[in-house]
Amino acid sequence: MKKITSFLFSVCLSSFVFAQTPSFDIVPLGVYGGGLEGNLSAYLIGEHNANEFICFDAGTVGSGIKKAVENKTFTTTEADVLQNYIKGYFITHGHLDHNSGLIINSPSDAKKPIYGFDFVIDIYKDHYFINSTWINFANDGQTPILNKYQYHYLTAKKPVALQNTKLTATPFVLDHVKPYKSSAALIADANQNYVLYLSDTGADRLEKSEQLKNLWQYVAPLIKNKQLKAILIEVSFPNAQPEHLLFGHLTPNLLQEELASLAQFTGKKALKNLNVIITHIKPEGDNEAVIQQELLAKNPYHVHYIFPKQGEKISL
Ligand SMILES: [Zn+2]
Ligand SMILES: [Zn+2]
Repeated sequence: MKKITSFLFSVCLSSFVFAQTPSFDIVPLGVYGGGLEGNLSAYLIGEHNANEFICFDAGTVGSGIKKAVENKTFTTTEADVLQNYIKGYFITHGHLDHNSGLIINSPSDAKKPIYGFDFVIDIYKDHYFINSTWINFANDGQTPILNKYQYHYLTAKKPVALQNTKLTATPFVLDHVKPYKSSAALIADANQNYVLYLSDTGADRLEKSEQLKNLWQYVAPLIKNKQLKAILIEVSFPNAQPEHLLFGHLTPNLLQEELASLAQFTGKKALKNLNVIITHIKPEGDNEAVIQQELLAKNPYHVHYIFPKQGEKISL
C-alpha cells in the first residue's frame, strides 16, 4: 500500500514538474511603440535555457542587451549576446520603431539571416541598406554588398526553419492601415509548443479585413490543446483614442473585440489563463498606466495579461 502511495505521489510530482517546465524564453529588448528610442519593439524568443534566439522586430537592440546584462538576464558580454545569442531577425514591417536597432547595430553584428516578407525586404533594399542612408550590410541590393545579412523571403502560412535554432516560424500577413502590411509569426519548438507573435495590427472591423479572424481560426486548435504558451499582441492606445486616429493599432476595447473573435473558434473557457503579452504601448503621458488599468478592469475571457519589461526574461 505504501509502495502504491509513493508511486502515485511520484507520478503526480513528475507530472507537476513536467507541467511547470517552460518551453520558451522571451527577452524583450524593447517594449514600446514609440516615444523612447532606447526601448522600442524587439523580442528575443528562443527555446528555454538554450540562448539561441531569433529577434522578432528590432526597434531597439543594443540598449536592450545592455539592460538585460545589467539585470543578469544574460551572464555574458553585450557583444556575445548581439553576435552569438541572436541567431537571426524576423522583421514584420518597415516602420522605424521595428528596425532602427538592427540598422544602427549592424557594424558590430555577426553574419546571420533576416526573415521577412517581400514587402519588408524591399524596404531594406530600397531605403535602409543603401549608400545614402547607411551602407548595404545585406547580400542583395545596392553595391557595395557587404554580405553580412542574408535575406530570407517568407511565404504566408509556409513554415520556415529558423537557422541555428530548433524553432520554426509560420508567417502571416496583417493589415496595418490598408494597403500597408505588417506580419505575425507562429513560432514552434521541436515538441509542438507554440508562441504567437503579432506585430502592429489594426482590428479586423476597422481594417475591413479578415486577417486576424483567419489567424485566430488557425491557432484555435493549439489553444484548445494548451500548446500555445503565449500570444504577444499590441495595444498601442487607451480606449479614449478616437477610432479614426488609431493608425492601424489596437486599444484595450479592440483587443477585447479580437479576443471575442478568437473565442468563437476556441470557446470561452479555453481562453482562461491564456498568457497575453501586451506590446507596443505608446508611452505618452499616463497611457501606460491607463492601458494596463483598462485591460485589467474588463477581462471577460480571464486571460492572463503580462506587461513585459525591457531586459527581463519571461519563461513559459
Ligand atoms: Zn510600431
Ligand atoms: Zn507600424
